[in-house]
Amino acid sequence: MIEVTRVYDFKNGINNLALKKSGEKIRNGKLVIFPTETVYGIGANALDSKAVDDIFIAKGRANDNPLIVHVSDFAMIKDLVEEPNTMEKKLLDAFMPGPFTLILKKKDIIPNNVSANLDTVGIRMPSNKIAHDLIEAAGVPIAAPSANVSSRPSGTQVEDIIDEFQDKVDIIIDGGKTNIGIESTVVKVIDDIPTILRPGKITPEDIMAVVGVCKLSDNLFKKVDGVVESPGMKYKHYAPKSKCLLVYSDNDEEMLNIIKQNIMEKTLIIGCDEHAYSYDCYKYLNYGKKLDYDAISHNIFAYLRQADKYDPDLIIIEGVKKEGIGIAIMNRLIRAAGYNYIEK
Ligand code: AMP
Ligand code: MG
Repeated sequence: MIEVTRVYDFKNGINNLALKKSGEKIRNGKLVIFPTETVYGIGANALDSKAVDDIFIAKGRANDNPLIVHVSDFAMIKDLVEEPNTMEKKLLDAFMPGPFTLILKKKDIIPNNVSANLDTVGIRMPSNKIAHDLIEAAGVPIAAPSANVSSRPSGTQVEDIIDEFQDKVDIIIDGGKTNIGIESTVVKVIDDIPTILRPGKITPEDIMAVVGVCKLSDNLFKKVDGVVESPGMKYKHYAPKSKCLLVYSDNDEEMLNIIKQNIMEKTLIIGCDEHAYSYDCYKYLNYGKKLDYDAISHNIFAYLRQADKYDPDLIIIEGVKKEGIGIAIMNRLIRAAGYNYIEK
């Protein structure tokens, strides 16, 4: 039983005593929410299957959806997975620490609930200092999915998370709004080709630049079911409570026109700075300059949550071009909109 959730404020720096306590909690089988450079994670000792079960319960997560294991250094990886091959080693060297998850063959030490009974496990080494220092303080790898109740937008700031996890976790560490705002790029090497199972800040171009080859999974922009390369692909995710419509066209006029035709009485629009005064709508949330995809990814989950607070009849979201981190933004938005998507 958790009496009350403690919130530690690390926005202006890490408090070493609080960090030590948080590490102890993890080591002793408790749940701690912590920031990373991508989104907030809800973490537990990855080697303690009972603690890992508690993550699934707190999130209401399907138990066939595996968790990513977070490490603080390369030595920790060695104990968890079989020796990576040459291609996998190149990727580890190039992208860790950073917003990157590599799927590797797991050792038996990883409990089966972490990997949802797969023989592989996702490994990530966050570059965020709080995340890194917490894993080090815990002295054990930390299994952590995004800190949000399943199906909801990922948590990128404590204000958004606190209601969902109040009294369900022992500690929440507040490190301010996360930098990238979208979850890590998940990659699995299949037939010696790095294959992106979930797009993120590390783009296909970044991977090509290092190893000369990269593939995108066929399932990034469509609804899938049954057995897929990455179980998370098939679940409802990132969704506001209100009905959503996502619209994109390379031609700005066309996008504006489609959106105008779909506006209803209480329509909230999430879109770019340049279009802030283009629509006659109930409320407009400005996610950043049209081509500033880093700003858009930084803001998007917080705005999907904020949108619900206005209780609109419809949320219309302006899409972005599927290039660079725009691939990741559209992968999340298409799901947030429940595949209700117009592209012209
Ligand atoms: P989240 O924990 O919310 O960041 O989601 C983790 C994502 O990583 C989900 O989409 C999972 O399906 C994916 N994932 C985790 N472990 C594996 C694995 N062993 N094989 C394939 N995908 C994985
Ligand atoms: Mg998630």
